[in-house]
Order: sequence, then structure tokens, then C-alpha cells
Amino acid sequence: MRKLWSFLLIGALLLSGCTKAPAPDPEPQVVYDPAPQKAGEITVDGKALSGIYSDGAQEYLRADEVDWLSALPEGGLNTAEGRYLPKDVLLEGYHPFADEENNRTYYTAYPKAEEIPQGVKVPTLMYHAVSDDLWGIASLFVRPAELERQLQYLTEEGYTPIHFEDLGRVDEIQKPILLTFDDGYQDNYTELFPLLKKYNVKATVFMIMGSVGQEHYLTREQIAEMDQSGLVSFQSHTMTHEFLSTRTAEQLEEELYRSKLELARITGKESFVLCYPTGKYSESSLAATAEHYEFGLLMSGPTYVTGSDPLKITRKYISRSTDLNAFKNMIS
Ligand SMILES: [Zn+2]
Repeated sequence: MRKLWSFLLIGALLLSGCTKAPAPDPEPQVVYDPAPQKAGEITVDGKALSGIYSDGAQEYLRADEVDWLSALPEGGLNTAEGRYLPKDVLLEGYHPFADEENNRTYYTAYPKAEEIPQGVKVPTLMYHAVSDDLWGIASLFVRPAELERQLQYLTEEGYTPIHFEDLGRVDEIQKPILLTFDDGYQDNYTELFPLLKKYNVKATVFMIMGSVGQEHYLTREQIAEMDQSGLVSFQSHTMTHEFLSTRTAEQLEEELYRSKLELARITGKESFVLCYPTGKYSESSLAATAEHYEFGLLMSGPTYVTGSDPLKITRKYISRSTDLNAFKNMIS
């Protein structure tokens, strides 16, 4: 009896299925064949995509790899392998930096100097090593315990440590401040990085690219890990740390361009801020810097106010002897 009821029920279900109106045909889709062909390698804000694609007339990215947009733009090509969207539309506002040796272009979002809101005071602090192991000039080594007190103070007082990438909206940020660390010492990973994570604070490290992996300096792996945390932005401190004012045109190109290239190969991003070794520059090195960078950092001087010469940003030097009172004075 039970079996019979089941048969009837299934029969009824089948019948009702048959009498349903057929689903409308999907919108006719134009399928392009063949799909655009891979024309090069591309990295967008540190993320390597499968490639740039071209149909000979226009360049495209794969729609399934575009996760930096909240909504996909109209248009593009539907192919049997998926949808392709015009590259230029997807990467509006991004800046390209070409690694010709590797046929790769790095696209990075950062503000141009002329785009940043003017007249905002942004104390910019200059640190070097963070360690009690004094293997070099002692004044360059800030005590980890002292740095922690400083970060605590900034947090309690409502300061917002920012990256240079954030300068485009600096007028919307509460008490912005830039923490910069020169040279790229190993202790920036062992001492500084844990503190940045503990207090969720952003910092910028200026790396001497010719020193990566050498004794006392950060390794490629450490740079990559710190960069991927989102807390540390790596920018250029040249290749050799020689005074730029003494370099030939060819050497300058090496210091300015090569250091960017080497850094992009680790982080996948273009660096757009240069820290002049020991703050020294000449008119010709300044002109060369302007070709490759948006911002340039000097050593000690008045508090940075946005809108001032972007290639001559001065900083406040935090040394081993800077106590909390001196620190408060520097940023007030
Ligand atoms: Zn330096």
C-alpha cells in the first residue's frame, strides 16, 4: 500500500514538471573565438595575475582575476575560456612600472604628489635600528622598550600612523603621522615588526637594495612577509647608500631605477618614495629623482606640511637618547 502511494506521488510530481512552462532561452551571448592571447606578465598591487591578454587591437585581463573592483564594468569579450575585460578600464588610477627583462608590468596605486590635499601637518619621524644589541653607531639604535612606549602614546593620543600611499586622502585622517625606518636592518623584522603587529601600526622602511640579505640587513623573505602584512610599506634608499650628489648620470640611474626594480621584484609593487642617503643631494640628482619618484626624504628639519616641496620632506630624528618628553615635543 505504502509503495503504491509513493508511485502515485512520484507520478504526480513528474506530471507537474511536464506541464511547467519551458524556461526562457538565455540571452544570446557572443562568444569570441579564439580568446585573446597572453601578451605579458602583470602584477597588480602585489598580486601576480595569470597575464595580460591581447587580441591584437586591445589588451585585456581575465574577469575572474579582478578582485580589486566592487563591480565589474560593462563590455569585454566572452570566450569559451571565460570573460576578458579591457585592461585600461580595470586599472584606471594605477601606475605602470615596467620590468622589461622579465616582460612584466607592475601596476601600483599611489598618489601623485600634485594630487594630495595641501596644508595638512604630518609629523614624519626618522628611525634606523630598533635594538639593544649595539653593533654600530649607538645613537641609531632605538630601544625596543622605548619604541613601544612611543607607539602606546601615539595610540592613546589618537594619532594615525599612515603610509605615503595614504597621502591622497590625508585630509580625512585623524592626526596623521609617518613613521620611517632607514636602511632596512634585520631588527626591523625581529624587534619592530612584532610591535607594529601588536599595536596595529603602519610604518615605512627605506631599504638599501644592495644590502638585502647581508649581515644585519633584512632578507628577501622578511621583506616579502612584512610587506604582505599590510603594515609595512617598503620604499627605496638606493642600491649602495652612496651620496647621490657624487654620482655620475649612469650611477644615478642605477641607484634610482635599479633599486625600484629590485624592490618591485620582491613586493610586486612600485616604490614611489626615495630616501636620500644621509640626506645629501644635488640639483642634478634631484632632477633625476623627480623622473622616478613622487616624494623624496631628507634628514632632520621642520615638520612636514603637505603641499611643500614633495622632493624635500624633512623629518624628526628619533635616536637612542630620545625620551618620551622629547618625542612628544617633536610630534606636537
Ligand atoms: Zn641611510
